Amino acid sequence: MSIKTPITVAYGDGIGPEIMQATLDILQAADAQIKPEVIEVGEKVYLQGYTSGIPDQAWESLKRTKVLLKGPITTPQGGGYKSLNVTLRKTLGLFANVRPCVSYAPYVPTQFPHIDLVIIRENEEDLYAGIEHRQTDEVYQCLKIISRPGCEQIIRYAFEYAQKFNRKKVTCLSKDNIMKMTDGLFHRIFNEIAAQYPDIEHDHLIIDIGTALIASQPERFDVVVTLNLYGDIISDVAAQIVGSVGLAGSANIGNRMAMFEAIHGSAPDIAGKNIANPSGLLNAAVQMLVHINQPETATLVENAWLKTLEDGVHTGDIYSSTYSKQKVGTQAFAAAVIERLGQTPSHFKPANYRPGAYAKIECYGDQYQTHSKKELVGVDIFIDNSAEIPAAQLAAKLKQLGGPLELIVISSRGLKIWPDSTIDFPYLRHCCCRFQSSKDSKQLKTIHHTDILKLLSGFNELGLDVIKTENLYTFDGQLGFTLAQGQ
Ligand code: NAD
Repeated sequence: MSIKTPITVAYGDGIGPEIMQATLDILQAADAQIKPEVIEVGEKVYLQGYTSGIPDQAWESLKRTKVLLKGPITTPQGGGYKSLNVTLRKTLGLFANVRPCVSYAPYVPTQFPHIDLVIIRENEEDLYAGIEHRQTDEVYQCLKIISRPGCEQIIRYAFEYAQKFNRKKVTCLSKDNIMKMTDGLFHRIFNEIAAQYPDIEHDHLIIDIGTALIASQPERFDVVVTLNLYGDIISDVAAQIVGSVGLAGSANIGNRMAMFEAIHGSAPDIAGKNIANPSGLLNAAVQMLVHINQPETATLVENAWLKTLEDGVHTGDIYSSTYSKQKVGTQAFAAAVIERLGQTPSHFKPANYRPGAYAKIECYGDQYQTHSKKELVGVDIFIDNSAEIPAAQLAAKLKQLGGPLELIVISSRGLKIWPDSTIDFPYLRHCCCRFQSSKDSKQLKTIHHTDILKLLSGFNELGLDVIKTENLYTFDGQLGFTLAQGQ
């Protein structure tokens, strides 16, 4: 007898307990070699005063088993409660969100009967790092943080996934035509890593046309890899067009831990009625079985589930008079799947997770030794110009400050407003004053932090309200900053 793999299980809120029980019943009947350990997370825990939704003792189980099967959670309304999912992703280093989107036509209506794509979304960086500030009465900012190791890790994961799961193509989605440095890095690293996988096709699309194509020609996609925010949006677009929001599962994968859950929420409107569809969580559990190296059991469960679907045994959410033969509740649906363990579908392509093919995908960003020569050559000083001092007057004051730094440009929201501005009504209340060691970007000389400090005390003496500074660097002589529009 093989040793059972301990897994941590959280039943969750709303319909969570019902669909988790149904899922565990199916796994048990399929003889999955798992040993569930139950932890409490979610609404009750939030209301006990744990603002992250997870009590201290739950971490012990998670860190030991390294696998979490999680029911949906209700985040209580009102301030102060942090998203449990974000906490888990960040604390456990779950850098990849893997969301398969598959059509189950005609049993689940969709315009696109042949969708079979997987979205691999970066999970830890981007605008979701949660670094936001209010800078003035009117202006707020959110920082988009993109790192080289972060890009390498997720993009390598996407190619490794494609290879292991016999996928043919990886498509990268980014907006590098606008965000040349952050999204540009993602695209560049995609090209670098794609070259290491010559057997897998690759292409890149700008996120806007990419999203439009996912919505209108989803069948042309195979594996899609993208940044956190875009991935969040396209995952929902894809789930919606396959029509199976209630059927899809997702995995959050890290090198040490992984979490599996349905993509839908806790559905409080139907909780406790024994009518919820457990398929989303069951599909997540199939991903989990593959992850913990029980591919035969994953195949057994998925095939029984597909057979149940094509036999027309449906829960209310996908019931139709044309394709359904029997309307069942949560428990009866689970019983129908259990009854079909060992059978294979005939309409759908049977699942076949190959034994030995899915050794855990472990991906790290390269331990990159930075060799580039980094030189401080200037500074952007942002001010809250609430008095709306006109740009030319502001420039005249700043030019008196002296020192090795020269005022090059003043911009507002990325647009040049001095010198030679052609904007009729510039927005003056949030200004970025750029100082460089030379006007000519090719002649930049190194400056010192003390030069910036002197400049800042000059701003202070002029009574200007500095809200932020951003150092300007070159790396091996290449500019490490973008120019303001019109600069
Ligand atoms: P939801 O997904 O819970 O429900 C949307 C609609 O789909 C409802 O009509 C619901 O009855 C139906 N539905 C969802 N899952 C179903 C299933 N398995 N079977 C049959 N019908 C199903 O989304 P919501 O109403 O926006 O959110 C409810 C709660 O869930 C909120 O507190 C939200 O924060 C939370 N939520 C949690 C997660 C998570 O834990 N990963 C994800 C999304 C939402």
